[in-house]
Amino acid sequence: MSSDGTFTYNGGKVLPGERQNLRYGISETYLGDPVRIPVTIINGEHSGPTIFLSAAAHGDELNGIEVVREVAHEWDLADLAGTLVCLPILNVPGFLAQQRYLPIYDRDLNRSFPGREDSTSAKRMAARIFENFIEPCDYGLDFHTSTRGRTNMLHVRADMSDDDVARLARAFGSKVIIDSDGSSGMLRTEAAAVGVPTVTIEMGEAHRFQRGLIDEALDGVESVFAEYGLRADATVRWPGWRTVIDDGNEKTWIRADAGGIVDMHAERGSLVTRGERICTLTDPFKSDNIAVEAPFTGLLVGVLENPVVYPGNPLCHLVELEPRVQAVVEREQSVDTGTEATS
Ligand SMILES: [Zn+2]
Repeated sequence: MSSDGTFTYNGGKVLPGERQNLRYGISETYLGDPVRIPVTIINGEHSGPTIFLSAAAHGDELNGIEVVREVAHEWDLADLAGTLVCLPILNVPGFLAQQRYLPIYDRDLNRSFPGREDSTSAKRMAARIFENFIEPCDYGLDFHTSTRGRTNMLHVRADMSDDDVARLARAFGSKVIIDSDGSSGMLRTEAAAVGVPTVTIEMGEAHRFQRGLIDEALDGVESVFAEYGLRADATVRWPGWRTVIDDGNEKTWIRADAGGIVDMHAERGSLVTRGERICTLTDPFKSDNIAVEAPFTGLLVGVLENPVVYPGNPLCHLVELEPRVQAVVEREQSVDTGTEATS
């Protein structure tokens, strides 16, 4: 951002009070045609922070696309104090193929940031995105879903040891925050490293628009806008309960110890108690059933959707809650189902 509030990128600028839809070239196909990502930049009438909202760094993770599009094109942003850089589809080649990775040698765009102009195709694409649309921002929200075949409840992943990142993570107002450094090359990790606090929002499954989760994420975006003063009328939300999962919490991906077909008995986001059966591994004759039980009481953050597994495939992601939070979740879920909580 320049001092007069103009947003500039290589090839253009957006003045305060202006909005621009553009298709920005980040690579070229085998035919020599441009590979262009859609970008919407909304520079508010009033000054304020610049926030990027990005999605589909993994090309088949669609929920975030709708979140970014609705913020950019359906929200009334007439009184916006700040600038939004909306990047609904980062990984265009993966999106076209409806797959997670860039089709070129299956590169992971979300391990290629901040990128480099004289390097691999993935890093060149990452560099174009990063230099023009990430580095000029003050904060960032990067939307993802679970990997194909699995689903997860909406949660934020953030490096909570960084105070600015932690503030952003809390501002989103999700019930669950998973504290992790992230990996080298991840958008959130590399953006934070250059002074752009960024968190990942995980929500649902690939290849779908899931309305309930999209609405929940939109509430989170509004809450972030309230925290940083982008919208005067918005308020920071409190999700009712919150847990920050860090090294102090037990957490595990429960994996299948046999190949088979899975009968899942528990839902994404539900509390399961120690010893409770989460799912059953079955064979084609339904004769050799293996019960998979919760090793500890915890919240099912993620579960399998595609019900077939090899030995070693993940079945569910279980995290332990602090006793106080667990009691609140028990009460909430017993109200939801109309049954007594068992403890
Ligand atoms: Zn992803």
